[in-house]
Amino acid sequence: MKIEKNSVVELDYQLMDTDGKVWESSKEGGPWVYLHGHGEVMPGLEGELTGKAIGQKIRVELGPEEAYGPYEDDLRTEVPREAFAEVENLTEGMRLAAEGSDGVHAVIVREIRDDIVVIDANHPLAGKAVKVEVKVLSVRKGTDEEIAHGHAHQDGSCGH
Ligand SMILES: [Zn+2]
Repeated sequence: MKIEKNSVVELDYQLMDTDGKVWESSKEGGPWVYLHGHGEVMPGLEGELTGKAIGQKIRVELGPEEAYGPYEDDLRTEVPREAFAEVENLTEGMRLAAEGSDGVHAVIVREIRDDIVVIDANHPLAGKAVKVEVKVLSVRKGTDEEIAHGHAHQDGSCGH
């Protein structure tokens, strides 16, 4: 069976930056299962997958707009250093969980200047092109319920 609209597709995947560093892969999180043709996958990849079958591999390079979006300067904030009094060995490049009014965000410490710390809440791959390599593991027809919901159900249901 070839991948077409409303197919449920299972993929082995690897997400890399343009230097070839692996950021995410199915080796850690398990295969990626999605409903084809419903915008669940980055558009540049979804287009390439149409018509493919089990065992086929695809490698695509996606620009920032198709991957994690542009880098947003607004997401860089200067915070007084005393806010990090409890963090040991605060260093540039360190990743922290910052508590904001709308929940906890992963941030990166970009710069430490005297009494100011610049934190950055952009995704580490924001503004960057990425490479995605996938291999098709299985293809099946989506159920009526999956098609109605617009996503794949891995264990029979998604709870709604
Ligand atoms: Zn559902």
